[in-house]
Amino acid sequence: MLRWFQRGKKQRADGLYRYGNERLIELQDVIKTYDTAAGTFTALKNINLKVDDGEFVAIVGKSGSGKSTLINMVTGIDRPTSGHVFIGDTAVHELNEGQLAQWRGRNIGIIFQFFQLLPTLTVVENVMLPMDFCNMYAPRERRDRAMKLLEQVEMAEHADKLPSATSGGQQQRVAIARALANDPPILVADEPTGNLDSRTAESVFELFESLVEQGKTIVMVTHDQDLAKRVSRTVVIADGQIIEQYLARVFPSLSEAQLVEVTREIEPRKYSAGEVILHEGSTVEKFYIIIKGGVQVVIDQPQTGEIVVASMGPGQYFGEVELLHGGHSIASIRADLHHGVEVVELDDDTFKRLAAQSSELRASVDRTAHERARENLTARGRKVHRG
Ligand code: ADP
Ligand code: MG
Repeated sequence: MLRWFQRGKKQRADGLYRYGNERLIELQDVIKTYDTAAGTFTALKNINLKVDDGEFVAIVGKSGSGKSTLINMVTGIDRPTSGHVFIGDTAVHELNEGQLAQWRGRNIGIIFQFFQLLPTLTVVENVMLPMDFCNMYAPRERRDRAMKLLEQVEMAEHADKLPSATSGGQQQRVAIARALANDPPILVADEPTGNLDSRTAESVFELFESLVEQGKTIVMVTHDQDLAKRVSRTVVIADGQIIEQYLARVFPSLSEAQLVEVTREIEPRKYSAGEVILHEGSTVEKFYIIIKGGVQVVIDQPQTGEIVVASMGPGQYFGEVELLHGGHSIASIRADLHHGVEVVELDDDTFKRLAAQSSELRASVDRTAHERARENLTARGRKVHRG
C-alpha cells in the first residue's frame, strides 16, 4: 500500500519532516488568488502558518476574511496559487488529483457546517463510506468499526436511520464519526457549530476536546469567541492575512483594522544562532518583537569580557526604550546561541505611531528604561565573566 504520510511521526534523525518542515502542518508563503469578473482577487496574502502535532487551533475572523480558503489549502480541497503546503511528510501542493483524494481520505477528517451526509445512505453507511473509499480496513471489519465510532459520538442507536430522521446536532455527530472513519491524525472543521444551537454546539465542541486528548490535531474555523478561547491557540485572519498574535499583545489597544494594516507592513525576520542584531553603542532604528527563539542582552567590558545581562523570549521586545527615549543601544542584542531567533521588526515611524496610541506601552517603556539603566550599571560593576 502506498503511504504518502507517516502518521504524526518524524522519521528523520534531525527531527524534521521530509521537506525540512518542523511542524505537522506548515503553510509557507501561501498566496491564493481568484479570477473574477471584476479582476483578480487575492483571498490569501502570503500566509505562513505552523501547527504542531496535537494542537487544537481555532481560526477566527470576519465573514469573507479567507478562513475557508485557508483551511481548503490544508485539506487540499483547493490549491495555492503560489507557496507550499506541507503536512507531515507530504507536499500537498504537489499531489495530483488521484493522490490527493487518497491522501486526504487517510489523513484528514473533514467536518462541514452543513454536515453534508449523503441523504440516501443510512447513518452507519455514511460512516463506512470513507473506509470503502480508502481500503484501510478489511470489508468485514468496516461495519463494526463504524458502529464503534457511532458509539463514541453517542449515535449508535440511530445507526440504521436516514440522516433526515435525525436532528442537526445528531447529524454533526455522525459527520464527526465519518471524519474519524480512517483514523486520520488531523481533523479540519469549517464552522462545525455554526448551524447548531449553543447547547448542541457545546457538546460537539466537547467531543473535539476529547479527540485532542486522544492525540488528534484539530484545526477549526469558528465564529464563536467563547469556544475560540478554549482551544490551545487562536489564529486571527483578517483580509486574507494572519494577524501577528504578538503584535496584538504588545499593542492591546489597537483595533483589528489597525493590526491588519501593521501586519501588512511587517515581515518576520530570522537571525541565526549567535548573530548580532544590535551592537552596543549603535543607533537603534527599529522596534523588535520576538516571535520565536530568543535573544541575549550582552554588554562588553574591557576587563572582564562580555556579560550576559538578560535573556528574552517570545512575546518580549526590544528597541523601544531607545526609540522613545533617544540614545544609542546600551547593550548588544544577539540571537540565542542554540536556536537563533525570529523577530517582527517595525520601523521607527510605525512604532512611534502605534506607541502614541498605547499608554500601557509607554508606561512600560518608562519603567523598563529605568530598570535597564539600573541593570546595566549593576552588571558593569561586577568583575565576573558570565558570557
Ligand atoms: P470566510 O470563510 O472567512 O468567510 P472565504 O475564504 O470563503 O471567507 O472567502 C474569502 C474571500 O474570497 C471572499 O471575499 C470570497 O468572496 C472570495 N472567494 C472565495 N471563493 C471564491 C471563488 N471561488 N471565486 C472568487 N472569489 C472567491
Ligand atoms: Mg467560510
